[in-house]
Amino acid sequence: MSDLVSLAVGIAAHRRINTLKSDMRAQKLSVDESELSAVSMRQDIEKLYMLVEALWCIVKETSGLGDEELIELVKQIDMQDGKLDGRNSANAGILRCSNCGRTILKGQSKCIYCGGEVKDESLFRHNGK
Ligand SMILES: [Zn+2]
Repeated sequence: MSDLVSLAVGIAAHRRINTLKSDMRAQKLSVDESELSAVSMRQDIEKLYMLVEALWCIVKETSGLGDEELIELVKQIDMQDGKLDGRNSANAGILRCSNCGRTILKGQSKCIYCGGEVKDESLFRHNGK
């Protein structure tokens, strides 16, 4: 009888270990995907830095504007949400219906008030997270 009990305990332990191994493999895959995603985002950001720098070089050469003007403009944009914190969350996640002018949450394809089509026409709108 005790042999049967120890066999049953052994089988249960074996099953539990297999479940844990499977969970660990799934978590490892999940971590690997997160790392890949972070690397990909970092590369995208580095590309954006280069694009912005190239654009600023072109603008500087052709407009006569200098770094001081750019820094002042960035501060003004930063302050659009009322806080000088290196972020601009003004209008983040919020759109206005082009038909009735009411505020609509981003992600809606039609206005919930009038049914009008919602167009996000801002070039620089972001999710603000
Ligand atoms: Zn509307």
